[in-house]
Amino acid sequence: VEQVRESGNTGFTVDSPNVTYTPETMQAKYTYRTTSVGFNNGQYKASPKESKYDFKTERKVGKVGVMLVGWGGNNGSTVTAGIIANRRKLEWETKEGPRAANYYGSVVMSSTLKLGEDTTTGKDVNIPLHSLLPMVHPNDLVIGGWDISKMDIASAMDRAQVLEPTLKSLVRKEMAQMVPLPSIYYPDFIAANQEDRADNVVEGSKASDKHVEHLRKDIRDFKSANGLDKVIVLWTANTERFADIVPGVNDTADNLLQAISNGHEEVAPSTVFAVACILENTPFINGSPQNTFVPGCIQLAEKHSAFIGGDDFKSGQTKMKSALVDFMINAGIKLTSISSYNHLGNNDGKNLSSQKQFRSKEISKSNVVDDMVAANNVLYKEGEHPDHCVVIKYMPAVGDNKRALDEYYAEIFLGGHQTISMFNVCEDSLLASPLIIDLVLIAELFTRIQWRKDGEQDWKSFHSVLSVLSYMLKAPLTPPGTPVVNALAKQRSALINIMKACVGLEPENDMTLEHKLF
Ligand code: NAD
Repeated sequence: VEQVRESGNTGFTVDSPNVTYTPETMQAKYTYRTTSVGFNNGQYKASPKESKYDFKTERKVGKVGVMLVGWGGNNGSTVTAGIIANRRKLEWETKEGPRAANYYGSVVMSSTLKLGEDTTTGKDVNIPLHSLLPMVHPNDLVIGGWDISKMDIASAMDRAQVLEPTLKSLVRKEMAQMVPLPSIYYPDFIAANQEDRADNVVEGSKASDKHVEHLRKDIRDFKSANGLDKVIVLWTANTERFADIVPGVNDTADNLLQAISNGHEEVAPSTVFAVACILENTPFINGSPQNTFVPGCIQLAEKHSAFIGGDDFKSGQTKMKSALVDFMINAGIKLTSISSYNHLGNNDGKNLSSQKQFRSKEISKSNVVDDMVAANNVLYKEGEHPDHCVVIKYMPAVGDNKRALDEYYAEIFLGGHQTISMFNVCEDSLLASPLIIDLVLIAELFTRIQWRKDGEQDWKSFHSVLSVLSYMLKAPLTPPGTPVVNALAKQRSALINIMKACVGLEPENDMTLEHKLF
């Protein structure tokens, strides 16, 4: 594995005239097959369509750093401890016996895909997703970041109350050396109950050019201090309130830059971070629900061909929802209501106990079944929608051990009903941390992939809005005007099949005709 990581190899090669390898790149000719549908004389006409693309993936991964905004939070401290534990192959005692570091919950590190069938036995050959293309290994990530709280990351890990004491004692020394950089804090955007935490802030409580320049310098300094080729920045700080979209302020790239210069009060800290990253050509991912990516911010990213991705980690309840609802509606069952209750006792819950911040989360959690409902015109009339309510309560005693209770109510055959009730309990940060790793690994990969249409000369990057990250996100951001896919299985297929296309392999079609036609 070490050797593979070093050389930019993946542990397999593709033997095809459409795929070429050089020491620097892997290049694939790929035929993308879709169906074009017309409507004529009262009926559809479906025509198979082919588009030919070339994909080129740079093999050298280089040294990658990740800077977390909100590093001292539950997610920030947990993901840091987790990477150190894996890097050092740690084992620790628990009341259930010894445990060892792993990357469970990371789709990139701990899930597999079918590469093909074994030439001799005909059995499936499965490989980890991480082996499909050269990707950075999370153990090799250099971690840093910002927090408005100056607590070192070891103490932040204690404050989070997530990890076993035995594990904490093994990583404490290294983490005590890690101290977050001061951050920008505009009190109006997060709950007032966070104020006592804010003892590590850059001067000024409104957006400014100075703040943008300050953050850009932080990124450059981190890069040079650690000899990095690339940095990915990820927002795992508190949920902010939504910013109003104001014409002339945040509706275009130029207006947004001007609004920052003018210190306009509708520019959120997360948007200032995004702008700094875009100008620094550093991918920026938003793990919280607020509308960081106001239209002007998306336009700025497009202008600079910088990668952005978001919004809001899809960790527990919503991940389950986007799998279960996909199943129900695709089974022809008419889901009529979803009632979702949550209670949690960590600092995220405390921040969300404030109405404006809760509203951001409510919006993010509410639209997650829209595409599945809209796709089924047998069960739902145009505009018809299941009832959906989301409740979140702060319950300090349960700490990071979030509870999610969901009731799915559906209409079945001949007017009958089906009720599915779920109770999901888990440490929120242990679910979110592997998602942070996945988001960083996949975003980094897409900085090394280019494409062009068959016959064209110039290579291009993927669109600035990295919708390929959707599997990890509750309210996936997509390029303006393009559809949002929430269904979990579709999101995973899109990711895997695009990655397969980059090495000239067909999408997984699950037909297994070889086992049916003989
Ligand atoms: P947390 O409250 O423990 O951590 C947030 C950290 O951000 C705190 O340390 C806080 O001091 C810091 N912070 C606030 N404003 C900042 C700013 N302007 N700059 C820098 N730092 C700032 O929360 P958490 O549990 O780690 O979750 C982080 C975010 O991820 C929340 O917005 C949450 O809604 C979102 N999220 C979490 C999950 C999950 O499963 N844990 C799922 C989806 C979304």
